[in-house]
Amino acid sequence: MGRSFYRWRAFRWVSLWDGRQWSARYVDGLPAFPFHHAPSGLLTRRQLRERGLCPGGQEPYALLVWRRDEAWASLYRLDLAKPKRTPTAGQRRALAKAMAARRTCRACGRDVGYCVPTSTRTCSTCEQPEDLADDMTEGVTGREAA
Ligand SMILES: [Zn+2]
Repeated sequence: MGRSFYRWRAFRWVSLWDGRQWSARYVDGLPAFPFHHAPSGLLTRRQLRERGLCPGGQEPYALLVWRRDEAWASLYRLDLAKPKRTPTAGQRRALAKAMAARRTCRACGRDVGYCVPTSTRTCSTCEQPEDLADDMTEGVTGREAA
């Protein structure tokens, strides 16, 4: 329900921040563009990240819509984007700690120097069939470990 039932006939011309006129629908008060038809200069958070940028405090300027209105993403102005902050010392420490946790065997408590299986959290020496829940390190370090 909700957004996915939005009517395509609701397209209208909108004036962009740089004076261009673009065809868009209005959804939740924001112009919404179909995938591949968004004006240049607007990027999703992911596209900004790929360029080493972040929205930098700006509100979403528009929405990107695809997959028959099933998928949505906020669009931000590239000209207002800011360089992504480099991790602070505290964030680097937290990451190192998370990595160490992934290498620590739950059974013997040693940092075994490699990532122990998330299913058991034990090193190969004291491998147990016990299924321990994934608690804290997944997501933060999953990509680096892959
Ligand atoms: Zn062990």
